Amino acid sequence: MLVVQKYGGTSVRDIERIMNVAKKTVEYKNKDNDIVVVVSAMAGETDRLLNIAHEIAKFPDDREMDVLISTGEQVTSALLAISLKEIGYDAVSVLGYQVRIVTDSSFGKARITDVEKEKIFAELKKGKIVVVPGFQGVDEDGNITTLGRGGSDTTAVALAAGLNADLCEIYTDVDGVYTTDPNICNRARRLDTISYDEMLEMASLGAKVLQTRSVELAKKYNVPILVKSSLVEGIGTLVCKEDMMSMEQVVISGVSYNKNEAKITVVNVPDKPGIAAKIFTALSDANIVVDVIVQNVSRGDFTDITFTIAKTDAKKAYKIMEEVAPGVGAEKVNIDNDIAKISIVGLGMRSHSGIASKMFSILAHEGVNIEAITTSEIKISCVIESKYGELAVRALHKGFGLDAEDVKEEK
Ligand code: ADP
Ligand code: ASP
Ligand code: MG
Repeated sequence: MLVVQKYGGTSVRDIERIMNVAKKTVEYKNKDNDIVVVVSAMAGETDRLLNIAHEIAKFPDDREMDVLISTGEQVTSALLAISLKEIGYDAVSVLGYQVRIVTDSSFGKARITDVEKEKIFAELKKGKIVVVPGFQGVDEDGNITTLGRGGSDTTAVALAAGLNADLCEIYTDVDGVYTTDPNICNRARRLDTISYDEMLEMASLGAKVLQTRSVELAKKYNVPILVKSSLVEGIGTLVCKEDMMSMEQVVISGVSYNKNEAKITVVNVPDKPGIAAKIFTALSDANIVVDVIVQNVSRGDFTDITFTIAKTDAKKAYKIMEEVAPGVGAEKVNIDNDIAKISIVGLGMRSHSGIASKMFSILAHEGVNIEAITTSEIKISCVIESKYGELAVRALHKGFGLDAEDVKEEK
């Protein structure tokens, strides 16, 4: 069997943990498997590198930032290969540009366009354990690129797809995918299985256990992902096609929580064709991704347009809106950074009615005001005041019957 295993930052945070990864890898290798191991940087290292650059420059050069922040993964790759050799196994590190994990040139958020397989297959054939740093690639001009925060998950899935591996295992600090972030709700339950579509929604709505892009790739190339803990034994969670799922399926599989967005309202714009187009074209021209969009019922000839964007884009988006506002006849622009987006996700929504009204009732019962709502076939998201975020997660988790029965202690 060919398996790609990925170990996240906490799993390689020090020498002891790296030795632990080496041992786990070897256990697998001894069962006659071919192994490609993808590693993240040591926990906190990517942040540390980013901070250093920001001490020097407010807007450091994008290309040089990728040269800088890709080094964290290079360090752990070499250390893991050294550890494996130390315990008697042949291993080799193959960096992003040596594999050739080819990406476009969007520094800091590059997308993989090709994974060349020859070098890795050649090393596997020699009986070696191949160690690949996550998060990094190379563009057509030979520049180092990185894949966005949490991008090592995507490296692992892309390699699994490119090499046609049987399984992609993601080892992290939790023992699977939970009904909600177990670090926020101590009644969260581990799921045995979750569909690609549900995981995609959960990830894009804030569950950082897998990077969204990695789930997109897994779905596209039908790569089964097994999420497990590198520290405790367990069966983990299988992310797979809907028809491979276990029968535990409930209406709602999970509750997600995202506090990394800000809300902008363009107040009193004329309610006529072309206004929304002008507002959102200005944002897309600046490469700003808009999430929730709400247009109020018009008051006579005027209405409000509200939307959310990533907090990191908030200042830029506000500035653009202030410039656009006079041209579209808006009265003013408001910005609110204190919001949270709470979402429920579940395939069962397709066939059950009354889910939205139940969600709104649970929030109302807790005295939480809903500021905006957005839905898809399998999710409902509400924008609320950020101070109610964690309370809302717990209330929805309980209200939709997701709470675990055996809870050890309050966190
Ligand atoms: P790694 O460094 O291994 O990539 P991450 O910190 O990126 O790990 O992701 C693991 C974290 O994801 C967990 O510690 C947990 O707090 C968070 N998380 C958020 N939502 C969920 C969820 N639904 N299930 C499991 N973990 C979740
Ligand atoms: N080290 C990178 C980050 O912290 C990539 C990863 O860990 O997945 O975002
Ligand atoms: Mg991660």
